[in-house]
Amino acid sequence: MVEETYSEDMGHGTLVIISGPSGAGKGTLVDRLVARVPELWVSISAATRAPRPGEVDGENYFFLSPEEFSRRIEAGDFLEWAEVHGNRYGTLRSAVEAKMAEGRDVILEIDPQGAMQVKALMPEAVLVFIVAPSMTELERRIRGRGAETDEQVSVRLATAVRELELVGNYDFVVENDDVARATDELVRIIKSLD
Ligand code: ADP
Ligand code: 5GP
Repeated sequence: MVEETYSEDMGHGTLVIISGPSGAGKGTLVDRLVARVPELWVSISAATRAPRPGEVDGENYFFLSPEEFSRRIEAGDFLEWAEVHGNRYGTLRSAVEAKMAEGRDVILEIDPQGAMQVKALMPEAVLVFIVAPSMTELERRIRGRGAETDEQVSVRLATAVRELELVGNYDFVVENDDVARATDELVRIIKSLD
């Protein structure tokens, strides 16, 4: 929902977007990837949802009130933002630009709406889609995480069906069947970008 064309010099770092349905394992794989390739920098998004138990402001997300999030939109602070499952999430532009200007490769873990926005602004960004082996397994993972009500699980599964239709816009698709195998594949993709 950020519409202007992106024209500033973004330095030499590569922007890598890890996206895909909720519960596919994006967070799990990004943690493993960064442990293997520590020079990557992972953007911390802003979000209007409440922190889950154990989540820390400024570590998992910058947790903002809806009013503050709207103010940051007006100020042009977001590279992209989207409403996902009733809450708003966005990538803060300044930190991403600073890291890329330093030559760091930057990871955004964002939903497919946001991924499409970034690709439109920055066609050189690399898009990676993470999928679970099946919808049954996706549901099992979402339920296993234990953070959502039955109704929220249904919303996430319906959203996943729509998100899968966007898979053709991605540069790479990684099936997260086994965490170690999928992490190896992600590491190979990142190393192939150098
Ligand atoms: P996302 O960030 O895409 O929403 P998570 O990383 O939170 O997904 O993973 C969702 C759940 O599935 C978590 O409980 C996680 O431990 C589990 N999980 C992730 N990858 C696998 C896998 N390959 N096999 C089985 N369970 C997995
Ligand atoms: P969760 O509430 O489970 O942490 O995240 C819900 C969804 O929001 C996930 O699909 C996640 O990828 C997405 N998300 C997290 N941060 C951002 C962001 O900055 N921008 C966009 N567009 N989506 C995000």
